[in-house]
Amino acid sequence: MKVVSVVGNRPQFVKAAPLCRALRARGEEILVHSGQHYDPELADLFFDELSIPPPDHALGVGPGSPLEQTAAIMLRLEGLLSVEKPDMVLAYGDTTTTIATALAASKLGMPLAHVEAGLRSFDRAMPEEQNRVVTDHLSALLLCPTGTAVANLAGEGITEGVHQVGDVMYDACLMFAPLARRREAHRAWEVEPGEYLLVTVHRAAATDTRAALEDLVAVMEALERPAVFPVHPRTRAKLESAGLWDRLGRVPGLRLAPPVGYLDFTSLLVSARAVVTDSGGVQKEAYFQGVPCLTLRDTTEWVETVEGGFNRLVGMDPGAVRAALADLSMPDERPAYYGDGHAAERIAALLAAAAPAPARA
Ligand code: UDP
Repeated sequence: MKVVSVVGNRPQFVKAAPLCRALRARGEEILVHSGQHYDPELADLFFDELSIPPPDHALGVGPGSPLEQTAAIMLRLEGLLSVEKPDMVLAYGDTTTTIATALAASKLGMPLAHVEAGLRSFDRAMPEEQNRVVTDHLSALLLCPTGTAVANLAGEGITEGVHQVGDVMYDACLMFAPLARRREAHRAWEVEPGEYLLVTVHRAAATDTRAALEDLVAVMEALERPAVFPVHPRTRAKLESAGLWDRLGRVPGLRLAPPVGYLDFTSLLVSARAVVTDSGGVQKEAYFQGVPCLTLRDTTEWVETVEGGFNRLVGMDPGAVRAALADLSMPDERPAYYGDGHAAERIAALLAAAAPAPARA
């Protein structure tokens, strides 16, 4: 089996960590880094901390609009895939790198497998939703984390090649949480375990207009307790150019810093009173760790966490955030929505089974 895996940003590096190990135990993996995330704290640190093998190819696309990045990744992948001739191309999640990989593989007539297939927010205005829908419809193997994802695909008429394998982010969590817990990262931020909030914000909807950025600052002002906010570089740049960065810096109790690595982030998460986020992955990680989550969106792909009472959709609304913070209770039992921690092994087995057997001499 020869697989070309294409990653390019922070959540994809986390997903690749367990998958690289599982794929390489079964066959040949060629790892490609698109360069969509190029800041060291969003990229290099993850390869080091999560022991991801160095990429075999770095496409180095760097900054640009999503369309420029999509086009650049596709063009560079065309040459690479034509030379590598893999049995399968593997795309992860819902980013620019994902859709560019899906289009390149499909135009070259190569089978495509999609990790995290079938997720839907049912909001086609989200770039991530567009990326998911297109990638799923081009995939031969659809590797779904949840039963909800399988049902979403069935709703779009996709039933062949669909497998519920569990969530590779849960695999990563089980793999690295023991190491992360020992770091006690909260100490560096002078906050006490169980008392502070952990915040992340990076989505276009929260950062692309001045009105959205003002809402974001108002929500931060509504937190009214110590909060640690490792700020995504894009979010920081947008706040600075809107002239709102200094106002955010004056919010009492809010500790702003550059993004942290996965181990420090997980360490901060396990000791947090609650997480306040617009991230997809962080909603799940809060669930894995039994930490209440407030999601700063009106929709989510991780509906199980909301329906089960572990995650509240509060939008970018200071009143809703305050109300949710006043009651963070949640059920004691956490059902195994995201599998058993062996999703990566199942994916590797499915890819190996799909690859043509080596020719006999
Ligand atoms: N993360 C991190 N450092 C941070 C913030 C997040 O390592 O400062 C990790 C987090 O643990 C999760 C992933 O980044 O595994 C989520 O990525 P992101 O929120 O950028 O993307 P999304 O999940 O929304 O696609």
